[in-house]
Amino acid sequence: MRAAGFLLLATLAAATDATGQLRVVTSTTDLADLARQVGGDRIRLRHISEGYQDPHFVEAKPSFVLEMAKADVWAFIGLDLEIGWMSLLLNGARNPKIRPGGSGYLDVSKFIPVIDVPSGAIDRSQGDVHPLGNPHYWLDPANGRRIAAAFAAKFTELDPGGAADYARNLAAFEAALARAAEEWAPALASLSGKPIVAWHTSWRYFAGYTRVNIVGFMEPKPGVPPSPSHLAGLVATMKRTGAKVIVMEPYYDRKTADLIASKAGASVLVLPPSVGGEKGLDDYISVLRRNITSLARAVE
Ligand SMILES: [Zn+2]
Repeated sequence: MRAAGFLLLATLAAATDATGQLRVVTSTTDLADLARQVGGDRIRLRHISEGYQDPHFVEAKPSFVLEMAKADVWAFIGLDLEIGWMSLLLNGARNPKIRPGGSGYLDVSKFIPVIDVPSGAIDRSQGDVHPLGNPHYWLDPANGRRIAAAFAAKFTELDPGGAADYARNLAAFEAALARAAEEWAPALASLSGKPIVAWHTSWRYFAGYTRVNIVGFMEPKPGVPPSPSHLAGLVATMKRTGAKVIVMEPYYDRKTADLIASKAGASVLVLPPSVGGEKGLDDYISVLRRNITSLARAVE
């Protein structure tokens, strides 16, 4: 018993670095900010992709192998969003704590009610980049709360001494989110039922929260570029439904969106899907506020 106790203590001690901080690496900026809200100064944080990059096509720098070699927690979106580079970094890092089954391996999608899960077999050769369901779940604040709660549970497990801090920080984040939601309630009301088009299905969770009605997508399938025949059908759908806005992320092809908008009598609205997606957009709640209020103005 005593030996087991010492072993447990040694394991817990090893979970924090010399400064006592948990070392946390996240794949995205949104996960990083939610980890920061909950972890505060008890964690040391790094993230891999930037908010202005297409998260499906990130090139992970080899230098991240060093960060991951020292990490106590590796948190990622999952659902194959990081499939292009994650196993490369994990293999390079040789850190059992953050490998599948390790105490620090945090697949955040496990805490989320995932939508758009394909029912049949998915053929990746068709180019669908959402083979396990839609990974853009952070754009619904209900999922933001789930992510924050998942961090609080994981940090408490690995650093029990911080339990009270993590619980207090989580409550403060939830209160801030509730205040923000009150503030943007009028914008939400004006979005409800309004027809729009989106480039990628990244806005599906956002639409679930805002009740904006996405009547079509520029992409025929997630990750597959628009084809002329698909776009012709989309213009017809926009005219029929009265959709006046095409929403897209900064990294898609603005010229094609403008062309379709002009044919349908609509306009293009570029929205940042993530923390750091534009200058000054430094936290999760600001991303939601920016997108909700901008889209509400655009559909008026
Ligand atoms: Zn996607």
